[in-house]
Amino acid sequence: MGIDAQIDSLERLAALDAEVKDLSVKLEAQRGEYTGLKTAQSALELALAADRISLTEMERTRSELQIDHRNIVQQLDRSRDRIQRSRNERESQAAERELDELRRLQRDRDDELGKMVVLCDQARTGIGDNEFKLLELQEKLSSEEQGTLAQIHQLEADIAGKRSGRAALLANLPSLTGRRYESMHGRGKVPVAHTTDGTCRGCFVQLPPMLFHTLLGRTQFGECPFCHRIIWYTPPVPAAAPVTPAAVTTEIPTEASS
Ligand SMILES: [Zn+2]
Repeated sequence: MGIDAQIDSLERLAALDAEVKDLSVKLEAQRGEYTGLKTAQSALELALAADRISLTEMERTRSELQIDHRNIVQQLDRSRDRIQRSRNERESQAAERELDELRRLQRDRDDELGKMVVLCDQARTGIGDNEFKLLELQEKLSSEEQGTLAQIHQLEADIAGKRSGRAALLANLPSLTGRRYESMHGRGKVPVAHTTDGTCRGCFVQLPPMLFHTLLGRTQFGECPFCHRIIWYTPPVPAAAPVTPAAVTTEIPTEASS
């Protein structure tokens, strides 16, 4: 395999690797967005389940407090009866003390019940909010899921295609060149660079004149002493073709006629 063919393969290899890197970034972004939505969905579902259990417990406590409250009201009635029916000062004082104690209990129960009613209302509002968020999320997921999964599969297929393309290119390269390329690539670096004017286009450092001189012949690769990329010489792209006298003369009649 001649050096020109190798350079061509290396250029295509580097281009494929750049595309794979680009596609992998897109793939990770797609996967990240998708798993993010899924994670948010299950977090909301868990929160809702916990909130519903807690609401059920609070509602049970509230009804126990209501039963307590009714019992105290009945006891208060009995206590008032006892005051009415007391036969002496001692009995009436005892009944009064009992009545005071029951009134205190009733106030406590009222306070607790009031707090519990507020807590239950807050919990129900919270559950309603989370149910709404979950519904929104489910709608977003169901409308995007198919498209997102299709995009993920497409990206995976594109990446696999480019990987098999690069494997074929690598297999055709002389093994030493292939190994040099892969060793750089494996360390997350772009393995190749070219030079046109004596500057490494990979790291933009001026190459030693001797090295540049060797590269000019395009008979062998070099290694940039600074960034260690496989380096070769690429002749400058010729400037736009100068206007030929023929082109000028064909334009003259047009200009004259206008
Ligand atoms: Zn370099």
